[in-house]
Amino acid sequence: MAHIIKCFECHAEVDDPYVDSCPRCGGVLAIETDLDEAASLRPKDLRRRPIGVWRYAPFLPVDASHAVSLLEGGTPLYDCRALAKKAGVRSLHVKYEGANPTGSFKDRGMTVGVSRAVELGCRTVGCASTGNTSASLAAYAAKASLGCVVLLPSGKVAAGKLAQAMFYGAKVVSIDGNFDDALNVVRQLARDGTLYLLNSINPFRPEGQKTVAFEIVDQLDFDVPDRIILPVGNAGNISAVHKAMVEWKSLGWIDRIPKITGIQAAGAAPLVRAFRAGSDDFVPEGHPETVATAIRIGNPVSGKKALRALYDTKGFATDVTDDAILDAQRLLGRTEGVGVEPASAASIAGLFKLVEEGVIDSDERVVCICTGNVLKDPDTVIGNCEPIFESKASAEAVRKAIGI
Ligand SMILES: *Cc1c(COP(=O)(O)O)cnc(C)c1O
Ligand SMILES: [Zn+2]
Repeated sequence: MAHIIKCFECHAEVDDPYVDSCPRCGGVLAIETDLDEAASLRPKDLRRRPIGVWRYAPFLPVDASHAVSLLEGGTPLYDCRALAKKAGVRSLHVKYEGANPTGSFKDRGMTVGVSRAVELGCRTVGCASTGNTSASLAAYAAKASLGCVVLLPSGKVAAGKLAQAMFYGAKVVSIDGNFDDALNVVRQLARDGTLYLLNSINPFRPEGQKTVAFEIVDQLDFDVPDRIILPVGNAGNISAVHKAMVEWKSLGWIDRIPKITGIQAAGAAPLVRAFRAGSDDFVPEGHPETVATAIRIGNPVSGKKALRALYDTKGFATDVTDDAILDAQRLLGRTEGVGVEPASAASIAGLFKLVEEGVIDSDERVVCICTGNVLKDPDTVIGNCEPIFESKASAEAVRKAIGI
């Protein structure tokens, strides 16, 4: 499908498919979707296709006929009545992105990004990652028979994610620095022609991530929720959700856009500070720190897009403490049987906080996007639960150990 790459900030058109930012002003890139094909369709035409990212092909910038796919998307949208009651809202749905092929929403962007790499004839792909991007890229690169290089911040990657990147055969490099440092290095490798860059700075990634928003509306039978809450790290996902909603509204498929609400961890919250100041730019955080490693980002590459999403939809942004994140993670598991990694639980922690503060009304119908699977970070889970019981191998000893 036809598409144009443009600078999000100065709107200059960009022809070179390998640049990672605007050659004129340095701004972040975006894709202008050509909606002509989609304009001749109705939602029910799409609903004849299997659910998943490629159901929404008319909104994607890569032809579905050569998609590199692991059948990503089509994740559950849980109607969490017990948790809605505890939070004090009319309804709460959890979009469970942990059910994707590699266990996080990153697969939605990666199927499109790796398909693009194949379309361009690239041989090697690469990324900097807090973990999930590398797990996803490694799997899709394997599927496409491409070489893969991933740069991870040393010592701060959850065990499940590291295991995945190694397992799918990527060259895994531990960088002496944080995510933002690793991104600078991989951008240099891309400029040198060593690899094709597949961080969310690549505008094809957010295009695939739009589909999480399409699916939410689709699964709610086009009854648009009042608010969508999601965790924010590099801010690619929140920007993609906004873009998706704008596209469907421009076609008249939906009549309004949910209030998009972003949650950051207190130790890595540059966009929350900008939002509080009413600013459309942000000051990077030099030393981001949080248990939610997937959102341990100081200089979000799509930060300006995210601020636009917050302001244009009359949404909101707030931060939550690590304790609140871990409490929310456990509560979601024990109330609804839904297991998510810490970053994902930030959306639930943010919901509780914003209801208490009166920002979210008790009458609202809310969707929280829970971005990754509980098994991604087993060490944090084990550290955050009651210790296990030890027992001799007899029924009597077990009864005694557990006190029943
Ligand atoms: C990448 C990631 C995020 C942050 O998404 P951004 O698009 O960078 O804002 C949140 N949660 C999980 C589990 C992730 O993997
Ligand atoms: Zn520009």
